[in-house]
Amino acid sequence: MARIFWFRRDLRLQDNIALNQAVAGANTDGDNQVCGLYALDTKAFFELSGIRQHSLIASLESLGASMGRKLVIRHGSVAESVVATALAAGAKTVHATRAFDPAGVAEQNSVGLALKAAGVHLQLDDSYYAVPPGSVTKPDGGPYRVYTPFFNNWFKLGWSKPVALAKGFEWIEPIDCQGRPEPSLAAPFKVKAGEDFALRTFERFKKRALFQYDELRNRADLSGTSHLSHALAFGEIHPRTILADLADSAGHNVFRKEIAWREFYADVLWHNPHTITQYYEPRFANMRYDSGKSAEQRLLAWQQGKTGYPMVDAGMRQLLATGWMHNRVRMIVASFLVKDLHLEWQAGAEWFERNLSDFDPASNAHGWQWTAGCGTDASPYYRVFNPILQGYKFDPDGEYVRKYVPELAHIAGKDVHEPWLLVDGLVNGYPAPIVDHAKERDESLARLAEIKVN
Ligand SMILES: Cc1cc2nc3c(=O)[nH]c(=O)nc-3n(C[C@H](O)[C@H](O)[C@H](O)COP(=O)(O)OP(=O)(O)OC[C@H]3O[C@@H](n4cnc5c(N)ncnc54)[C@H](O)[C@@H]3O)c2cc1C
Repeated sequence: MARIFWFRRDLRLQDNIALNQAVAGANTDGDNQVCGLYALDTKAFFELSGIRQHSLIASLESLGASMGRKLVIRHGSVAESVVATALAAGAKTVHATRAFDPAGVAEQNSVGLALKAAGVHLQLDDSYYAVPPGSVTKPDGGPYRVYTPFFNNWFKLGWSKPVALAKGFEWIEPIDCQGRPEPSLAAPFKVKAGEDFALRTFERFKKRALFQYDELRNRADLSGTSHLSHALAFGEIHPRTILADLADSAGHNVFRKEIAWREFYADVLWHNPHTITQYYEPRFANMRYDSGKSAEQRLLAWQQGKTGYPMVDAGMRQLLATGWMHNRVRMIVASFLVKDLHLEWQAGAEWFERNLSDFDPASNAHGWQWTAGCGTDASPYYRVFNPILQGYKFDPDGEYVRKYVPELAHIAGKDVHEPWLLVDGLVNGYPAPIVDHAKERDESLARLAEIKVN
């Protein structure tokens, strides 16, 4: 009668409180047996980009290896897979980490109901966060809408120390394992993932860039950030493990604040589940946005990195080439989609979801809403990023643009940010700007004025 541990967005063994609960249950049962299960939603898997499919496979391979190849992988409906495994193992309890995002909550509700019908209990513990969403509240008990007071209270509340994997149990021999699925799309490189890789990435970041994170994190041309977002999104490392290693210095403090942005957005989404697709600030739903054929063509140009704005195109091509994009550039491309192309943020968020290997429902929806000016905090709609000036500032020698836009590789230095000014700037087929930024900025402010009056 083994306990089942259902792995979700917590693909690791260390610092996994819910897994330790499963072990404690198995110890109480007396047989010390745990069955580790990953239930793959096949339909959702095949909708992902090649990089995302391969990145999940790499995570599962690494997890399976760390369990001595005892991970059970099942495909199809998640609820059916969890129930089938529980019944096959004769389990009375399935353990898992509690999700707080709308899809995760819906999933655990449907699995919980299906298990109950089969006479099995679903026990949810912990969360994917240092402080579970819903715990940090204003003095009146309500949720925060602004980041800084949230951060101050989050920090005051604190979190527990990381925990090692409990001892005194064994993984049972896999029952009815269907193995990993074959990806339907190729990835342009061998994707690395998994708990060991995440821990090594964190170690490298501590030596390489953490001490000057406050100064270099905004530079798109440098490797000044941790690249831990995939590992955090899939739970290959828990934020507790990261926070436990941070001290009190400028670099460490700013990095802690970035981890807290992830926690803030999870909290905001937990209190406002509709904002996964709807406007946090409802009046923006009444704004005029473009639609029709020419809007679709502009969306396509943005997706493929062919807008004629080098910093925007470099970011969009970095996404397609690597499954990741620098945070500063995410803001530049998001602002461009909404305020220069006049498209709704959800179109961009969907494209990010399909392609980002670090996709996280809360950080994505609210990263978009913040940049679009319809979300939380102090990023007003009238703050329109200038994609050219942002390029000069955050890619000062043009290295980032040349790396991802080969048609501009012949242009030396910062001139790469305005190739249309050069005699030979567009000779390699790079497009002229599809819109005039100055004109579109005025247009977006005029549209803002319309919803202010209403
Ligand atoms: C439009 C838009 C969409 C985004 N979509 C996602 C997404 O789907 N998944 C995702 O993980 N992040 C998203 N972000 C936030 C941020 O861009 C990434 O977390 C960051 O670029 C990841 O790189 P890193 O791990 O090197 O970050 P670091 O700078 O090293 O930061 C460390 C960690 O802190 C968290 N973090 C940092 N900045 C933010 C932020 N602004 N908001 C929330 N968490 C943050 C991440 O977990 C990150 O891994 C988005 C931002 C924007 C503007």
